This record gives sequence, C-alpha cells and structure tokens, in this order.
Amino acid sequence: MSASLELLCRSCGAPFDAALAPLTCPSCKALVPPHPSASSFVRLGLDRPRFVVDEKALEASWLQRTRVVHPDRAVRKSDAERRFAVEQTAALNDAWRLVRIPFDRAALLLTTAGVPEPPLRQALLVAFIEAREEAESSPAHKAAVVADGVARFEALMAKVEAELRIVDDVVGGYGNPSAEAVRLRQVGALLAEARTLARLVDDLGGPRLLPSLTVR
Ligand SMILES: [Zn+2]
Repeated sequence: MSASLELLCRSCGAPFDAALAPLTCPSCKALVPPHPSASSFVRLGLDRPRFVVDEKALEASWLQRTRVVHPDRAVRKSDAERRFAVEQTAALNDAWRLVRIPFDRAALLLTTAGVPEPPLRQALLVAFIEAREEAESSPAHKAAVVADGVARFEALMAKVEAELRIVDDVVGGYGNPSAEAVRLRQVGALLAEARTLARLVDDLGGPRLLPSLTVR
C-alpha cells in the first residue's frame, strides 16, 4: 500500500517521501506539491487507510493541515510555493470530502483495495420497486417505507463497520485484496444496497442519508 515515492524538494533538493503526503519539505520547510497517488487517509494524518477513525480528531487534523497550507500564508513565497499552497488545499479538501462520511469512506477503501462495487442484486431491485409503489399508495405507507428505509440503512452500515473493522484490525490494511476479497465483496454488496435505500428515502422526501447522492 504505502510504497514510498521519493521526490526531491524543488527549493533545497533534499529527498522526501511523497507517499507520506508531507505538506512541507522535511529539510527546508518550503511547501511541496501534493502527489496524486498519495492516500486520502495519509493526507489527513492517518498512518494508513482505515475505516474505524475518530471523526472529530480527523476533522481537527484536516483543519490544522489546511491552516499550514492556506494560500494567504504563502503570499510572500515563490510562484511555485504559492501554486503548491493552492494545490495542497484542494487535495486536503478532496481527501476530507472522501473520508468524512462512513459510507464514502467504505467506498474509498474498496477502491483502494481494487474491489469494485457490484451491481444491485435483481431480487433487491424488485423489492425496491415494490417498496416505492407501496409508498406511493398513501401518506401513511410512505412514512412507513421511509422509516423502514432509514432503519435498514443504519443496519447495513453497522454490518459494513463490523466487516471493515476486521480488515482494519486483523488483516491490517487494504493493499492486499486477495487476503480479504470475499469480505470486501460482501461490503460492496452492502454499499450497493445502502446507496439504493438512501436514494429511495431521499426520493420519498425522507432524511438525506448520503450528502454525496446529489453529486452522483
Ligand atoms: Zn527543501
């Protein structure tokens, strides 16, 4: 997973490991550019990709890092460093957007492991169509379908957490899909179902379970 990516600082020439997603050169403290293949998790200060995180601590780490590279602090620096400040800010914001919601974090971990999310099973697709028809039959039915959808979404995400907690703790990471392919494919199926449930609940005027739905 975290194979090192040695680059040279453009200010002082010292080598640094871009896979560790540093904001500044470890030698001269000049801003360095973000590397596109650095992990979003590492960008936010975690040692490696993981599902179970302290979301408050991660948010604090993201904010602290965005302050270090804030373009306002780079106004007196070189053209290159001013550009790196903007690029690092964008990379940090992308990383935070991808990991802050458990659903999106799980999806990113599957991508990291090279496990694609499968299409929704046919039987579930039929069940969703029936639930939608049921919801449209009366306001009381709609409220019941929404409440059931929210509860099922939460139960699915609890299963996702249980599976990924094992990959986090027992397997020790997401860079080796062959070790956990069955477990991760199962998570992919849970995410496909959770995404469809979230869309159904959203379409029926229920709570927004996935903020990212609007951009998909
Ligand atoms: Zn340097």
